[in-house]
Amino acid sequence: GTMTVGDLAKLLHKDASEVIKKLISLGIMATINQEIEMEAILLIAAEYGSEVEVKIPVEEDDFEKDEEKDEEADLLPRPPVVTIMGHVDHGKTTLLDAIRKTNVTGGEAGGITQHIGAYQVEINQKKITFLDTPGHEAFTLMRARGAQVTDITIIVVAADDGVMPQTVEAVNHAKAAGVPIIVAVNKIDKPEANPDKIKQELTEYGLVPEEWGGDTIFVNVSAKQRIGLEGLLEMILLVAEVNDYKANPDKRARGTVIEAELDKGKGPVARILVQHGTLKIGDAFVAGNCFGRVRAMVNDRGRRIKEAGPSTPVEITGLTEVPQAGDPFMAFEDERKARAIAERRAIKHRQSELGANTRVTLDDLYKHIKDGEIKDLNVIIKADVQGSNEALKGSLAKIDIEGVRVKIIHNGVGAITESDIILASASNAIVIGFNVRPEPQAMATAEQEKVDIRLHNIIYNVIDEIEQAMKGMLDPVF
Ligand code: GDP
Repeated sequence: GTMTVGDLAKLLHKDASEVIKKLISLGIMATINQEIEMEAILLIAAEYGSEVEVKIPVEEDDFEKDEEKDEEADLLPRPPVVTIMGHVDHGKTTLLDAIRKTNVTGGEAGGITQHIGAYQVEINQKKITFLDTPGHEAFTLMRARGAQVTDITIIVVAADDGVMPQTVEAVNHAKAAGVPIIVAVNKIDKPEANPDKIKQELTEYGLVPEEWGGDTIFVNVSAKQRIGLEGLLEMILLVAEVNDYKANPDKRARGTVIEAELDKGKGPVARILVQHGTLKIGDAFVAGNCFGRVRAMVNDRGRRIKEAGPSTPVEITGLTEVPQAGDPFMAFEDERKARAIAERRAIKHRQSELGANTRVTLDDLYKHIKDGEIKDLNVIIKADVQGSNEALKGSLAKIDIEGVRVKIIHNGVGAITESDIILASASNAIVIGFNVRPEPQAMATAEQEKVDIRLHNIIYNVIDEIEQAMKGMLDPVF
């Protein structure tokens, strides 16, 4: 419901006249008995640094709630969803294109492949879904928005090159997400290819091949000459079988927006991955803060389809606005309800932008520890030289205060990049820069995502600061 200016002032323990002045300064003319809009309430609360919670009845929102209602018997196997990552020029795009053309059964041969953000291939009567945007940035950006769409990551390493900085980033991003990794050693057609060197180098990052006693699957491929692709697909199916990915196709659809844009002819279009249930033509839905009704659905072969089940990528039209990549998607029984939920979600979104801060920072670390909310402090380290990195890693590993440990989810040499910040945001981590600074774009993103960056040039100070923060004894910074 709404409230009057007087009610709000009381709630905030402020004089009504003061609140009215604030409202005026925001361009809102109001008297004490006037009812004010939710938007204004949020703005005023944010001005005073208060958190207001907009109560949304659970049965009306909550994209997660019907998750646990699935009976074991309702769950059926679904195709695994795969993302390809790796260093630039190691062959991610070529591999994605080569796999796209490997549609062995050809059941739908002749269909013109259409870019809808993801595609499916079939091997041994089983389907695999590939996300079409390679790279860990896209992957982690989705995760930072709360979307977990990938089941398996393929890390591509060029056999004529070796493990490069972005290879390591990709490994750490996949690990931080807890997603299984398959290594595709690419470009084995090249005379200078040395797959064993890649295996050797990756053991340093915890990826040990099976033949050396580890549990990481390595597959030699040539994306360009199309060698080893079926073997790679079979390994994906193997990992899928072990992990037993399932979903209930027999309920209202839920999924994630992979891409969205305003099309000149079609209006807003969203390319979504259905993750649970089945999406049908005519379904009312919410995507992020947008709503609509599925007018048309097109699959990755450019065919119009009437239904899309779990792990199926589709392009839909019928939205009122353009949602964002990573937005959750859910079908509802009627459009009126979908609209109401979209509107409430928009308010909630505005509210979280205004301040409700759930990211961990060193300043509020102690509170999170006391409340039992965190057991590991996730940290990303960027340093000027590898030596400092190692020294910091060693010292931080020794910290153990009341059972809370430091967990280094990524470390590297060089400036703090936007990709580091997005990883921090997705993993609720803080970022330590040692003798390095953030790139301007990283700085801006950190501000937006409320990621805590700490810059130091003395190792002792890093350790001291983290220990003090864990004990709740950090001096406030003014
Ligand atoms: P990305 O930046 O990781 O997406 O890499 P690309 O797919 O764009 O590939 C970079 C370059 O490597 C291109 O010139 C490709 O033709 C080449 N390339 C990719 N895969 C192979 C391969 O298996 N063998 C050879 N010889 N070249 C490849």
